[in-house]
Amino acid sequence: MASRHTVLMRLVASAYSIAQKAGMIVRRVIAEGDLGIVEKTCATDLQTKADRLVQMSICSSLARKFPKLTIIGEEDLPPEEVDQELIEDGQWEEILKQPCPSQYSDIKEEDLVVWVDPLDGTKEYTEGLLDNVTVLIGIAYEGKAIAGIINQPYYNYQAGPDAVLGRTIWGILGLGAFGFQLKEVPAGKHIITTTRSHNSKLVTDCVTAMNPDDVLRVGGAGNKIIQLIEGKASAYVFASPGCKKWDTCAPEVILHAVGGKLTDVHGNALQYNKEVKHMNSAGVLATLRNYDYYASRVPESVKKALVP
Ligand code: AMP
Ligand code: MG
Ligand code: MG
Repeated sequence: MASRHTVLMRLVASAYSIAQKAGMIVRRVIAEGDLGIVEKTCATDLQTKADRLVQMSICSSLARKFPKLTIIGEEDLPPEEVDQELIEDGQWEEILKQPCPSQYSDIKEEDLVVWVDPLDGTKEYTEGLLDNVTVLIGIAYEGKAIAGIINQPYYNYQAGPDAVLGRTIWGILGLGAFGFQLKEVPAGKHIITTTRSHNSKLVTDCVTAMNPDDVLRVGGAGNKIIQLIEGKASAYVFASPGCKKWDTCAPEVILHAVGGKLTDVHGNALQYNKEVKHMNSAGVLATLRNYDYYASRVPESVKKALVP
């Protein structure tokens, strides 16, 4: 029987439940104590058991329910039978109560591309900076990021034993973003958030040119977008290649759904069709407000060095 809900709303409702299960896996791997760290390209490019298990969980759970989706996950894993215990079949009913934006009501499964970062901020995860970590599921249509789900498994972990651990933020363009309280940095303050583990001279040059009142160095693309929407930072500046489509797809949607803007350092929108190269070669510039202030201060030398 055909569902009365659109493909997009069913996918987002399922991805919400799948992201919550992912958060539980991320916490369980820490609790069990064996992170199983593997170096990918270098010592700051890591993969842990949590990255592997979560990717298997998300990709297999989505593929079972939505077999015609294109799913692109960060981790390169050998094909293997996925433990039934990793499969999440639920969908969050609250999302199904929301209306699907009319421009997306006829989308078919095969038209969607899902970008999965099973664990964003892996370097920080291995160092115990647990609230830097997020699980990212981004959904693209016709090359544009249109829906996103972010689970932050250790949200509240420093708030004491009674605090509820973990949260899930989600959003769809044209509908809004939910699961957090939108807040802005005090007017006139320029607080830049940037990489902690992947710094370079270009990154520093670009940040300095923004004339910041303060610079925050934290892990994770998801985490930095959360800082923008919760009033902790006014711009996310990463003048470097290194960050990939799975890092930006879901966070970009949440930011755009509340009126912010994410581009490369030249001001170009990012593309998310399945053929696109994975690397965001021309870096990332994202703000909730006052995008033009930051964009106008990106040095020409930085733009020259970062070719899209
Ligand atoms: P960061 O702000 O350093 O946490 O980076 C945001 C995202 O981009 C994370 O998923 C990083 O792993 C990724 N990333 C950024 N720069 C690099 C790099 N040079 N090599 C590998 N991954 C990177
Ligand atoms: Mg990442
Ligand atoms: Mg990752």
